Amino acid sequence: MSDKPVAARAPKGTHDVLWPESTRWESLVARFADTVERAGYGLAHTPIFEDVAVFRRGIGDDSDVVGKEMYEFQDRGGRTLALRPEGTAPMVRAFVQHRPPLPWKAWYATPAFRYERPQAGRYRQHHQLGVEALGPTDPDLDVEVLGLADRFYRSLGLSRYALRINSMGDDTCRPAYLVLLTDYLSSRRDQLCEEHRDRLEANPLRALDCKREACRTATDGAPAFVDHLCEACTGHFARVRAGLEAQRITYVLDHRLVRGFDYYTRTTFEFGSDALESAQNGIGGGGRYDGLVAMLGGPPTPGIGFGLGVERILLACDAEGVFPVAPRPLDAFVVDTAGGAHARDLTAALRAAGLSADRAWDDRSMGAQFKAADRSGALLACIVGPDEAASGTVSVRPLRGTGDQRTVAMDDLVATVRDAVVDLDVGGRPAAAADAP
Ligand SMILES: [Zn+2]
Ligand SMILES: [Zn+2]
Repeated sequence: MSDKPVAARAPKGTHDVLWPESTRWESLVARFADTVERAGYGLAHTPIFEDVAVFRRGIGDDSDVVGKEMYEFQDRGGRTLALRPEGTAPMVRAFVQHRPPLPWKAWYATPAFRYERPQAGRYRQHHQLGVEALGPTDPDLDVEVLGLADRFYRSLGLSRYALRINSMGDDTCRPAYLVLLTDYLSSRRDQLCEEHRDRLEANPLRALDCKREACRTATDGAPAFVDHLCEACTGHFARVRAGLEAQRITYVLDHRLVRGFDYYTRTTFEFGSDALESAQNGIGGGGRYDGLVAMLGGPPTPGIGFGLGVERILLACDAEGVFPVAPRPLDAFVVDTAGGAHARDLTAALRAAGLSADRAWDDRSMGAQFKAADRSGALLACIVGPDEAASGTVSVRPLRGTGDQRTVAMDDLVATVRDAVVDLDVGGRPAAAADAP
């Protein structure tokens, strides 16, 4: 009988992100941070799990995310906790707890967990980048937030995506609209799909964004929320639309856009990539949640934010052929066939001087070390053989671009590599991607 353990695998619906793909993730997060920090948003970290009430109260028990998909568990102390299925409720919980001065503008990068059937672009652990802005009701803040997502996508090189917006009203106008919609749908109850026939009274809005043909047809002439907003919500939404138009942010008004979380009010929006399959093409979305802070026990405080899906964005980048994996070559690779002590000390000296350097291990042959140098993408090989070791020198050979091998004193290596890297950088290394205007 074999005792060999089965090779360990990541849990179903999760994925590993390894180098070099991970360099793309690093650049993506850095690009996002740059975009939102220039607008005054500061990074916030909150725990990956919260008291389950944070999500039940905020997102709503009736939503699929809380009702069917949340990773909920008891810890050893008997507390009921949940892994965060989204980013907003935890950020608002942190606001309620710490009460930072208003306006509070924060961003996050976090994994999110949902027990869904895995498929392309849908994972049980996916990753989100997002912002939240709390305090102002000012519709120009909605334009700022929407504009940040748009600017971020553009900075990656994406262009084939569409922004859909809608208003979901507030406590003043929503109850009357829900009655109107429920009446309309009740008269067409048997035309709705089974799920929404049963849930009609509990949440009539869900039939509007149902993808099934039955619901699509039955809701074709349904009253649109924008036609039944109160005066304040009408004025707010008009100003948002005017702002988007002033900033040339293209959008489509979509009456069916009613996001499935209880906390949304007024402006809601979604970005969909035209380069992805329509069932899984959402690359980000969000909206206003003017009641959420109070729902979580804080003082009534309006807010707006969005969450963008990292995996979907990268799929969209692949589909559009933009934001490729950028190799990040080393400056130098030290090849040492004289015992390894020079490789040990020269890589340390190069790194201490702010350059990047690596080496081979375990006393490999000259050929094997050069193969490793090539694979590393290094610009220069710094070679120490028995001759160099005896004379206290290093042979420096360009591995990219042109140039001859030369021999320098070991003490001059750092300066030599630094000068050579500057020269080679012009043609030998891809320039950092510039931000789009
Ligand atoms: Zn339906
Ligand atoms: Zn209203």
